[in-house]
Amino acid sequence: MAQDRWNDDEAALHAGELALRVYSSRLLGQDPALVLHGGGNTSVKIRETNRVGEVEEILYVKGSGWDLATIEAAGFTPIRMAHLLKLARLDRLSDLEMVNELKTQQTIASAPTGSVEAILHAVLPFKFVDHTHADVIVTITNTDGGLERIRSIYGDQVVIVPYVMPGFDLARLVAERFAAEAGPQTIGMVLMNHGIFSFGETAKESYERMIGLVNRAEGYLKAQGAWELPGSEASAVAGDCRLELTDLRGEVSRAAGFPMLLRAWQEPADLAFAVRADLDRISQQGPATPDHVIRTKSLPQLGRDVQAYAAAYRAYFDAHASQARTPVQMLDPAPRVILDPALGLLTAGKTAKDCAIGADIYRHTMEIIQRAERLGGWRALSAKDIFDMEYWELEQAKLRQGGRSPLFQGEVALVTGAASGIGRACVESLLARGAAVIGLDLNPAIEGLFKRADYLGIPCDITDLNALRAALEQGVRRFGGLDMLILNAGMFPGGKRIAELDDSLWRQVMAVNLDANLALLRESHPLLKLAPNKGRVVVIGSKNVPAPGPGAAAYSASKAALNQLMRVAALEWGADGIRINALHPDAVFDTGLWTEEVLQARAAHYGLTVEQYKTKNVLKTEVRSRDVAELAAEMCGPLFAKTTAAQVPVDGGNDRVI
Ligand code: ZN
Repeated sequence: MAQDRWNDDEAALHAGELALRVYSSRLLGQDPALVLHGGGNTSVKIRETNRVGEVEEILYVKGSGWDLATIEAAGFTPIRMAHLLKLARLDRLSDLEMVNELKTQQTIASAPTGSVEAILHAVLPFKFVDHTHADVIVTITNTDGGLERIRSIYGDQVVIVPYVMPGFDLARLVAERFAAEAGPQTIGMVLMNHGIFSFGETAKESYERMIGLVNRAEGYLKAQGAWELPGSEASAVAGDCRLELTDLRGEVSRAAGFPMLLRAWQEPADLAFAVRADLDRISQQGPATPDHVIRTKSLPQLGRDVQAYAAAYRAYFDAHASQARTPVQMLDPAPRVILDPALGLLTAGKTAKDCAIGADIYRHTMEIIQRAERLGGWRALSAKDIFDMEYWELEQAKLRQGGRSPLFQGEVALVTGAASGIGRACVESLLARGAAVIGLDLNPAIEGLFKRADYLGIPCDITDLNALRAALEQGVRRFGGLDMLILNAGMFPGGKRIAELDDSLWRQVMAVNLDANLALLRESHPLLKLAPNKGRVVVIGSKNVPAPGPGAAAYSASKAALNQLMRVAALEWGADGIRINALHPDAVFDTGLWTEEVLQARAAHYGLTVEQYKTKNVLKTEVRSRDVAELAAEMCGPLFAKTTAAQVPVDGGNDRVI
């Protein structure tokens, strides 16, 4: 049941009508079964005295870009009621014209643009208006006989409005229906295939009516035996899905025309839905609410052929575009949700956040569809209605505004030794360029290094082949593949002359600096090969490669061998379009390698103070981790598109290298 979260003590802390509007809007926003990712909106009508002393009635309606769960007073747009009511009497008004009217009639210039449902809120003759796309309402209104069901649940307490796309036409229809059907008994309104409104003279009244109405619908679903979701014995694929997922992500990216992330979700409910025998029929009908157009592809229907889906999508576009009011530009034809009996629920998106939102929305959609099926059959909107939503004038306008996307949007990078120093700086430089990043490190702190959807930190000893494979598996399930690899992890034992160098230290250095990188390159190759923009590898080498020093035999030899490995990889992988280049940093002191002890030993070795040692280069400049990381990131970008097997010093100029 939707929980009544109203608390009189808390409400008392909110002085004034707008503050109470903020309070109860947040209560609605806290319940994902009512409000999901920007869905729903609320308003309050307040009388105010303007600058020239006139009393005006102002509609404070949720502004676009704000989420009810976290909305503040500044998130409500104040718009003059008198003008909104005049607009509501017009015969027609395009969406773009309507947005212009909302914008020019707001009384705070810096407020966000008011909701496209602003005129609808204005025509409802109540002080407080609450609107959600509650799952239970969407469930019932998307079934055969949905309208009769709603009538039987609510009687004449709600006005019922057939489906019309949000915008001016809907506001007009609501005004008509309301004038004809509303009476003193009216406490709400149901928009078919869309959602529900409640009204009241106080914030509490309107909020509690919403909860009450929604709970009556839930009670109805339970009484009809349509509430319990089917269980399933299906279980996730435990084995290696790396290639399968990377290949699929490559297909999705090809269909889209740009790199996309792909995330695999395998909760029991995801698998239970994905194995349904009627999956093709129920998943291909379209979205649950006008807010969330999600293009779904169930693999059984089209095999594994994403291109077949893309062709079907183009046909769908061609069939409807000619009837559109204004010319429309086709969106990329890649699916955003893919259902597979073995892999579960897969969501594709330009960013990790998009993938997560897609899954969140689709999980609600799966529940809605399954309950509607039990109730009498899921009946989504027509293809024409879905097309109108997807190619909404306002969405097209947003598309035209465009804006440049980040350099590595939709791409995945893996960085080793990522918990500190150059590795950590590489993670930051790659994230800043829009990549999703997998960070590996021995240090368990790697897991919580960044708290964001596009970062995955995995504690991993890269010299352990099984751990390395498991980390790649985890990374691919999270982001869908691998485009960039930064080989950074390394160890630098203190200075030791060859005469004192024992075998075990030598082998340890080789295992970390050389053998682990060979394994990682080998394991990554099939993934890099499938990268939509071709794979890129950057090896963090060392000045010691071109200019070794005494006392660092194991380190210098391991880095020189790694450098040679890089050159051979460039030769072998060039045909796959994979570029691999090396950076040779020197004297980067903000890294994990340089303990105070090592620093002093090296300085003493050269007969310098630590300070002199730090800027001991031709340019007399200190080289920081960030300098190396920025260059590493750029080496994965278009500047180095035609360069492979290059060795670039980043050392302030070293006279032995020069
Ligand atoms: Zn709505």
